[in-house]
Amino acid sequence: MIRTVAQYLDSLNDGREMWCMGEKVKDVRTHPTLSGIIRTAALDYVLPHHPEYRHLFVTRNAAGEDVNFLLTAPRTAEDLLRRRECFITAMRTGGGVLLHCMGADALAAFTVTANVMDKELGTEYGARVENYRQLLMRQDLGITGAITDVKGDRSLRPSQQKQHPDYYLRVVDRQKDGIVVRGAKVHISASPCANELLCSPCRTHGEADKDYALAFAVPCNAPGVKMLAVEPVSRTYGDEGRFDYPKTSATQPTECLIVFDDVFVPWERVFMCGEWQYSRTLAYAFASYHRLFGTCKMVGKLEAMTGAAALAAEYNGVEHADHIRKKLAWMAMITHMVFELGKAACLDPVTEFGHDVAMPNRMSINAAKFTFASNFHQMCQHMQDIAGGLCTTVPTYRDWQNPDIQPYIDKYLGAKAGVSTEDRLRVMRLIKDMTGNYWQIDTIHGEGSMAAQQMFLYGSADWDKLKAAARRAAHIDGWQQHPLYGQLLSSDMVDMPAVDASYGSVPETAK
Ligand SMILES: Cc1cc2nc3c(=O)[nH]c(=O)nc-3n(C[C@H](O)[C@H](O)[C@H](O)COP(=O)(O)OP(=O)(O)OC[C@H]3O[C@@H](n4cnc5c(N)ncnc54)[C@H](O)[C@@H]3O)c2cc1C
Repeated sequence: MIRTVAQYLDSLNDGREMWCMGEKVKDVRTHPTLSGIIRTAALDYVLPHHPEYRHLFVTRNAAGEDVNFLLTAPRTAEDLLRRRECFITAMRTGGGVLLHCMGADALAAFTVTANVMDKELGTEYGARVENYRQLLMRQDLGITGAITDVKGDRSLRPSQQKQHPDYYLRVVDRQKDGIVVRGAKVHISASPCANELLCSPCRTHGEADKDYALAFAVPCNAPGVKMLAVEPVSRTYGDEGRFDYPKTSATQPTECLIVFDDVFVPWERVFMCGEWQYSRTLAYAFASYHRLFGTCKMVGKLEAMTGAAALAAEYNGVEHADHIRKKLAWMAMITHMVFELGKAACLDPVTEFGHDVAMPNRMSINAAKFTFASNFHQMCQHMQDIAGGLCTTVPTYRDWQNPDIQPYIDKYLGAKAGVSTEDRLRVMRLIKDMTGNYWQIDTIHGEGSMAAQQMFLYGSADWDKLKAAARRAAHIDGWQQHPLYGQLLSSDMVDMPAVDASYGSVPETAK
């Protein structure tokens, strides 16, 4: 089934325990700042009904019913490309959050790991994941992925933590009908607008950590689940929010610290419990899927950033300056690289885990995430440089709306003839918003810290190939056995006449 926006909004009034700015939230739909993210997330229920986007977001299940495509398991490069197209379309449309993204990535990772465990351990997790998937499809539920544990001392494994054993989510009781879990997940996006939380480990485990090797799903209103929303980026909303913080007011506050205070989870919703050897597979699979989402999220952001810098240059009358054009060209290049790397990751997928499941190519997808994270601050610097100081000292909506002072703002903060001062102020407010603390940190840490990408890149690079290339170039034996470099033709094969020995000695550097 594909729910309507009204059905989706009704479902959020479910008695969940949500806190924001020290107050208990009565209803997320009517909260002054939380409602911004709910409105944006509701686009996930607008797009599938729209004739132009239906072919992307809606597919058929085995029974021939309409279901959300993002809830299906990607099996081919084409599925990954379509998933990417859904993400990019939704991010360009909403500009911030996509309700199904983290959850869909966690669900896909559950499928990969369940396949591997069933094959190697004879478990029946695959069937459970599929039953859960059918439930999500039948009810068209909004899902998010709760992966990141609070972690305590990062140098210690979950079971070695000194202050208390709950820095990583763990099972504290195994009962006939299910398990009881305790711990907390942090920075969990889209929590206020989700119906279900898909929980999974964020690291690998040793045998002593087996109680932490845990994957399951619970509704957001399950007894014992407490969601503590982060501080809103801006405390303005409505027209004022759209003017002052045009990007973040639509998506804030999305993250929550989620406490699991002895939450009961029935067995049919448990997808890993104690199989510590497979946490790695789960964490790696989630990371690969989620970095594909991350690159799609960034496409919309990078396009808006590059465009904002270009508009600011135009409004200030400096768009023809040589140094401005070089900066804009660099921004356009980074935007294009991230777009193309994400596509490349889908076109050459990884299929080694479990049969019949396709994951984004690990090198390409980690290169994509690392490219945007490591260049984001330079993008901000260029935007701020091009926009000038007004991108921080820009007046607010309330200043602009006040008839006593608007004429002065209008007269003195105008720039190029033909550009309205209001448009100039709006692009400055956009740059102020986009270069703020929230996006900078989201870019570094969202979808995993940069060291995590370097770990994947180091682990996935084809070192045999790279070293064979160097051996061949340096004439060191060993490359001849390599399947690519060993097969290449060589100029040594060209039958040349003997070198004329009557020349003088060849200079050292030319040898
Ligand atoms: C805006 C935002 C949204 C997010 N959304 C979600 C979400 O929806 N779901 C979700 O599950 N997570 C989410 N995250 C969490 C994100 O994946 C983490 O922030 C990221 O993995 C880093 O973890 P951390 O914040 O605990 O930082 P840390 O792990 O404390 O990292 C800080 C630094 O320490 C390094 N480090 C950490 N441990 C070690 C170690 N053992 N050895 C060496 N170096 C180490 C890291 O590489 C990094 O350089 C989100 C984060 C942000 C900022």
